[in-house]
Amino acid sequence: MDNKTEYKKSNLIMVRYGEISLKGKNRPVFEKKLAGNIRYALRDLGRPRIKMLQGRMIMNAGNMDIQQVIDRLSRVFGIVSISPVHKVAAAVEAIYEEALNSIKQVLENKSSGDSLSFRVTVKRADKSFPVNSMDLSRDLGAYLLEHIPELSVDLHNPDTVVSVDIREGCAYIFSDTRHGPRGLPVGSSGRAVLMLSGGIDSPVAGWMSMKRGIELEAVHYHSFPFTGEKSKEKVLDLCRAMVCYGGKINLSVVHFTEIQKDIQKKCPEEFRVTIMRRFMFRIAQRIAEKKKALALVTGESVGQVASQTLESMNAIGSVTAMPVLRPLVGFDKEQITRLARQIGTYDISIQPYEDCCTLFLPRYPSTKPRVEKVQDAEKNLDVEDLVAGALEKTEEHSFSIS
Ligand code: ATP
Ligand code: MG
Repeated sequence: MDNKTEYKKSNLIMVRYGEISLKGKNRPVFEKKLAGNIRYALRDLGRPRIKMLQGRMIMNAGNMDIQQVIDRLSRVFGIVSISPVHKVAAAVEAIYEEALNSIKQVLENKSSGDSLSFRVTVKRADKSFPVNSMDLSRDLGAYLLEHIPELSVDLHNPDTVVSVDIREGCAYIFSDTRHGPRGLPVGSSGRAVLMLSGGIDSPVAGWMSMKRGIELEAVHYHSFPFTGEKSKEKVLDLCRAMVCYGGKINLSVVHFTEIQKDIQKKCPEEFRVTIMRRFMFRIAQRIAEKKKALALVTGESVGQVASQTLESMNAIGSVTAMPVLRPLVGFDKEQITRLARQIGTYDISIQPYEDCCTLFLPRYPSTKPRVEKVQDAEKNLDVEDLVAGALEKTEEHSFSIS
């Protein structure tokens, strides 16, 4: 190989997915969903060609910017890892030559003079290939060492792994692998309604649900004019941040002021938070029915605040027969905050705009409300009328990956 030949960048990307392959008969459905989500995530960059290859996808990114493609893919749920790959004929010389190119490329991206430790892994899906995996990795390792003096072998903790994946008639070679977010393709588990406040927790709860393949319909309760435009904008920004992981999210902004005022006027102070939350759940259920969603999602965890005791959850949850998912139930605030930072919602959530719930907070909310007592405290409200009124004033927004 002539050293001066410019190394041609590949436009092929290998995408590995994990859990989908466990799904037995549903597997083709999941694969189709993942391929669809990938296409959707890249739709403003170009139209990739995607080929299924026994539990992997090989994607031809054409003339799209590979780094940009990899960045987008690293947020598509269902993907375990991503590697730019080169495809060569399944012949020992071709594999050697490409592996050498590939590791030279890694070295080029390091500061000059640095050494690089490496290991070779070979997978031989095509057993008719004449050399077995063990022999090929050993011999290829020796060949690379011989040709590049800066290299050293480290089997346990190498800087880079040169991988060779031999299939029928061809081999894929790569030495750069990025993690995907794992999980299941969004949409493969159906749809749920996320109750999205402007706080730190609910966007993380939404992200965790998307990770399990759930497509989100978000609902936000807004108390205009007590909460201003800025607090609504903040929730729109949260949706924009979350949608990078989820293809599309619809948001219903529900005007909650009338309900809150009526509760304040007609209900005993200690039950106001519980009653307000019961309305949130009732309205979320109605939106779920309309949007064909099968569950509600909240950012609650146990014991964080007065309304998050098991007694409160009972009194609130009894207004709906729908399953209520609380993905953060066992997390503490520090773990939630760390995740919020990682997924990019934290900086938006900490902007100091009022949430509707903080406005009408009583001094001493009941931490152990009994369902019968709450029902009694609600008796002067026209529940159906209030719910219908709020639904009528709902404002809808749609978000999709740019
Ligand atoms: P968050 O950080 O998500 O606001 P929190 O710890 O502040 O959660 P609460 O304010 O008690 O807890 O709210 C519990 C959950 O109720 C939220 O995670 C969210 O799912 C829902 N919720 C609260 N306020 C609203 C709102 N204004 N609109 C929609 N959902 C809400
Ligand atoms: Mg909150």
